[in-house]
Amino acid sequence: VEEAVKQAGAQAVTVEFLRHPPWTSDRISEVGRERLKQFGIAPPPRQMAPGAWQVECPYCGAERTVMENLFGPTACRSIFYCRQCKNPFEAMKPVLPLAME
Ligand SMILES: [Zn+2]
Repeated sequence: VEEAVKQAGAQAVTVEFLRHPPWTSDRISEVGRERLKQFGIAPPPRQMAPGAWQVECPYCGAERTVMENLFGPTACRSIFYCRQCKNPFEAMKPVLPLAME
């Protein structure tokens, strides 16, 4: 991160890693969600109840999608198929906060 920011022109860089609160996919910004769609990846839903993963097609916005394979090219993505526009696409898996007991 330091090298990338310095190469972009910054003189002094301080990187701080925050582990609390833990990151969840609800923290992806609207800009980030839009960029994922532009890249053909459906962003994870916000405020999702466990087990209720509904994916919208990043190309046409249809909710008539089906999971083809839970395992995508990376651990955080799955393969879906849109029944509306007939395109296959990837969806980013939701990262939910851990239940604290
Ligand atoms: Zn579609």
